[in-house]
Amino acid sequence: MSDTKALDREYIAGTYGRFDLELTEGKGSLVRSAEGKEYIDLGTGIAVNTFGFCDDAWTAAVTEQLGKIQHASNLYYTEPQARLAKMLCEKTGMKKVFFSNSGAEANECMIKTARKWAHDRFGEEKSTVVTLRGSFHGRTVTTLAATGQDAFHTNFGPFTGGFEYAEPGDLGAAEALLARGDVAAFMIETVQGEGGVRALDAEYVKGLFALCRRYDALFCVDEVQTGNGRTGKLYSYMHFGVQPDIVSTAKGLAGGLPMGATLFAESTADVLTAGQHGSTFGGNPIAAAGACSIISRIDSELLKSVEEKSAYIRSGLEGAKGVKSVSGLGLMLGIETEAPAKTLAAKLMERGVLVLTAKEKLRLLPALNIDFGLLKKAVATIKEVLADETPA
Ligand SMILES: *Cc1c(COP(=O)(O)O)cnc(C)c1O
Repeated sequence: MSDTKALDREYIAGTYGRFDLELTEGKGSLVRSAEGKEYIDLGTGIAVNTFGFCDDAWTAAVTEQLGKIQHASNLYYTEPQARLAKMLCEKTGMKKVFFSNSGAEANECMIKTARKWAHDRFGEEKSTVVTLRGSFHGRTVTTLAATGQDAFHTNFGPFTGGFEYAEPGDLGAAEALLARGDVAAFMIETVQGEGGVRALDAEYVKGLFALCRRYDALFCVDEVQTGNGRTGKLYSYMHFGVQPDIVSTAKGLAGGLPMGATLFAESTADVLTAGQHGSTFGGNPIAAAGACSIISRIDSELLKSVEEKSAYIRSGLEGAKGVKSVSGLGLMLGIETEAPAKTLAAKLMERGVLVLTAKEKLRLLPALNIDFGLLKKAVATIKEVLADETPA
């Protein structure tokens, strides 16, 4: 065993089931292990390395900022944070942004804002936040409570109260909850990531948005994984013609540096006031400089290529031997397979292709700018491994 693996096993809390692989350096969608083997990466550190490893423009932006100011606290103004907020608002039509460091924190801010919005207008009784069964919203005690999977609701109680769960796709159930009058917000992922790359039906998303408007509840979208170009739109809600009141994002935002953002529409832009929320690291200048480099390059041309690559993967895998179905949007794809996904991911690693799993599916989250040649090679390898591992 390498030193790194031995030290990790001895000194790092055992919360992760890691692949037996130590990664040392990468460029674009290629990454090398400590043993010197090269891999095509279709996981991007769970949708984080938006333009792959050590993308030139991103590295230059981050390095330039690193030589100026690495951190200043939010007691002072810093330029990259202001520039990023303007860019996010101009590209989405949202009005204000709060910066944090992770998806869970971005969701925490979304939940706090939704509660305060409802308290300000309707009183303390209107505080329930409804999420969907199968959702994933984070690992803090509150965002675990928000996560609509029973498996996450053990060991760490008491959990934060005031969450209820609705069945995705069931507008009648959503309306029954809203009609009670205590629902402050619905909070959804348009494609449930950890929950198995399950895309919500467009009619459901549009219908839920209309119901939230009718019953004075906020429509909040967790775009931690689906955001920042991943699904073929800058934010996935843009596929559905809906206007969220709050959007949270993180993962791919800063292209590999820790950053979360909560975006507020007109309806919620002024809910949080001085002293009501904060973060020491939030909006860190280096992360913000990296994020500016990423967000400024997610334009219609890039998004078109995301759709083309998505279509290429789908057409290659749909109907292939060992594939039951392909789900997801853009470059956030799930593959339901005949053979167990975990076994397939391990075999693919042996064959030089890194993929993730989500529930019982293979999960593909390649870099948005993955080279077409590499993508073709990776899809061909996936087809071969699936065919080999599937009994005739
Ligand atoms: C990953 C994820 C989170 C949690 O993000 P962290 O940065 O790990 O806190 C929340 N929501 C969704 C949809 C996610 O995919």
